[in-house]
Amino acid sequence: MTSDKEMILLIEDEFQMRRFLRVTLQSQGYRLIETQNGEEGLAQAATRQPDVILLDLGLPDMDGLEVTERLREWTNIPIIIISAREQERDKVRALDAGADDYLTKPFGSDELLARIRVSIRHSTREKAGQESPVFQTGNLLVDFSRRQVTLAGKEIHLTPIEYRLLTTLIRYADRVVTHNQLLREVWGPQQTNQVQYLRVYMAQLRQKLEDDPARPCFLINEPGIGYRFKTDADKG
Ligand code: CA
Repeated sequence: MTSDKEMILLIEDEFQMRRFLRVTLQSQGYRLIETQNGEEGLAQAATRQPDVILLDLGLPDMDGLEVTERLREWTNIPIIIISAREQERDKVRALDAGADDYLTKPFGSDELLARIRVSIRHSTREKAGQESPVFQTGNLLVDFSRRQVTLAGKEIHLTPIEYRLLTTLIRYADRVVTHNQLLREVWGPQQTNQVQYLRVYMAQLRQKLEDDPARPCFLINEPGIGYRFKTDADKG
């Protein structure tokens, strides 16, 4: 029965962290491959084809950023970075290099399991090529074919940039999207240093979509990194 549960590859050199993750993941029936350095992790990723990779950035033989880049040369397997706060710049670079999400150490087991479920859900959907024409979470509904956004049944008028910003975040729902990635996808490749644009438009979007813009439920700030669109699925 456990044999069809997803397989997770862990690349982490800290013994304590590996023990915590082993207990957490095995309690949910996930199959686990443990590796302690980048080379071993890359080799296992290629031969075992895991469903999710948990990657530490500070590894003894190479940087997690390099591991991410080398993985992205041949695979879209979801990569979740697990790292400490002081390596924020490295986390951003790893996300821009193609990692899907990150968790800051120390993190709780519930948060980790939620992130893993999100990654698996997204990659399953991508493999199946499903693009639903309508997205709904809570009282927010986005109809992509009509480019229409409604909140509790009431139509919300968004400018073209606000709409692109919202739909880009929704495409990566429940995963972090870096400032660079948003600027590139919404404004184009020339604008990636204009982080203030993002702040302005994000504030406008929050005014239009959030009950309390100062305490947003959907448009969550990831300080120093980017934003995350939070859905109901990630709240439970
Ligand atoms: Ca480490």
